[in-house]
Amino acid sequence: MVQSKDLEQSKERLEQLKSELNLHAYNYYVLDKPNITDAEYDQMYNELENLEKAHPEWITSDSPTQRIGDQLLEGFTKVEHAEAMYSLGNAFNEEEVGAFIQRVQNQTEQEVEFMVECKIDGLAIALTYENGTFVRGATRGDGTVGEDITTNLRTIRSLPLKLKEPVSVEVRGEAYMPKDVFKQLNDEREETGEVPFANPRNAAAGGLRQIDPKAVSKRRLNMFLYSALYNDDFDVESQAELFEQLQFLGFRTNPLRKLCKNQTEVMDFIHQIEEERHDLPYEIDGIVIKVNDVALQQQLGYTVKAPRWAIAYKFKADIAETKLNEVEWTV
Ligand code: NAD
Repeated sequence: MVQSKDLEQSKERLEQLKSELNLHAYNYYVLDKPNITDAEYDQMYNELENLEKAHPEWITSDSPTQRIGDQLLEGFTKVEHAEAMYSLGNAFNEEEVGAFIQRVQNQTEQEVEFMVECKIDGLAIALTYENGTFVRGATRGDGTVGEDITTNLRTIRSLPLKLKEPVSVEVRGEAYMPKDVFKQLNDEREETGEVPFANPRNAAAGGLRQIDPKAVSKRRLNMFLYSALYNDDFDVESQAELFEQLQFLGFRTNPLRKLCKNQTEVMDFIHQIEEERHDLPYEIDGIVIKVNDVALQQQLGYTVKAPRWAIAYKFKADIAETKLNEVEWTV
């Protein structure tokens, strides 16, 4: 009897988490107007994941754990991604990072090298080049289908319109608003009595989905590229080589990255970045740890939502972030 009451309560909690998380995801992805901090969202998401792990029979297709991205905005042409744009699994502490490394080593039965990168807090983008010419840019959208934001992306000065070699390739990365731009734009908005932006991520995401490219240009966005779809024209053996190739072709990559041989090296680098992150000119919300070898990445594959060969270590929320609820924001 007691057991069935517990079960009922767990089911109720699961339904509540699903509907609340879906609402917060809508506010965040569609309206670019979050009502809770990312840490609060992650905590609820984690609770839902644990409930679903304990009761897999309760998993439904409308659960946020079953989606890669989120709803698409009206007003943009849709672009079907050649390969899904995945999310990342999360680690919130050293033990979870260690468990990830152990799992990778067990599955591949070898010592594995990891590329450790900053997790840029921006908006995932996909850029398509045909014979070296930029032809299309898209958002991640729901992971399978994104929004065509080619014209808006062309306003980003660091986006190469022509590559150094005539390759056909799709590259992926993160568009973001630099911290100094964010501060300056918010100061200006305050002076003119406009509602300030919530954070650089929302200002960038809202910016790239404006209909008027001139308004996008004013947001002075920038980008870092960190992945590509491999083909006969563009092929590499490791994440380290990918960065070299991207740079060679003219793309901007984040130099703050490190190839690590073991968990100690990974954790040392994480701690170093955690110390330095407030001095960086862009926001990062964590560190991404990726298997370096592409053949091993392919061997490990993907879950419905994320690669098995990478994980995002999330920083603990800042005090400033928890003030989110108190103010009215705009995009
Ligand atoms: P995610 O942000 O946890 O991780 C995946 C994304 O990381 C990728 O799509 C990519 O855009 C980005 N990324 C940045 N640097 C990268 C790098 N070097 N390599 C690979 N990827 C990199 O996953 P998500 O599904 O995009 O978003 C979920 C997160 O969004 C949650 O964890 C939460 O923090 C936040 N969120 C917040 C609210 C809210 O209301 N506050 C609501 C929904 C989601």
